[in-house]
Amino acid sequence: MDQDCIFCKIVSGEIPSDKVYEDEEILCFRDLEPQAPVHVLIVPKLHLASIEEVTESLEHKELLGHLMSKVRVIAEMLGLTNGYRLVCNCGHDGMQTVRHLHFHLLGGREMGWPPG
Ligand code: 5GP
Ligand code: ZN
Repeated sequence: MDQDCIFCKIVSGEIPSDKVYEDEEILCFRDLEPQAPVHVLIVPKLHLASIEEVTESLEHKELLGHLMSKVRVIAEMLGLTNGYRLVCNCGHDGMQTVRHLHFHLLGGREMGWPPG
């Protein structure tokens, strides 16, 4: 846990969140400022600042493999039967604002492309 990290505080329960899914490895909760009818964040409980900190270690491979395997499950729970978008912003140019690895799951409307 990173003491100054908002999402670590959400994982620990110190900051409340609208939880959608939780297991031992990951947490999914609704975004505070939704950009689509459905907008949730899927985070590993382990603090990793961004996708740039993911290594080829077995621990990271299992964690990220697990997280990715739950995307479909969470999308189904949220009723996203017509598709959705999974977004991972990284670093300055990627417009990442929270330095704890997270994936945006957006749906409930047709998305535009290319993203801004
Ligand atoms: P980023 O810009 O880093 O990819 O996304 C960070 C996201 O976290 C933003 O969509 C923002 O609305 C959301 N966010 C920031 N602080 C909080 C919070 O305290 N609670 C929740 N639920 N979402 C937050
Ligand atoms: Zn964190």
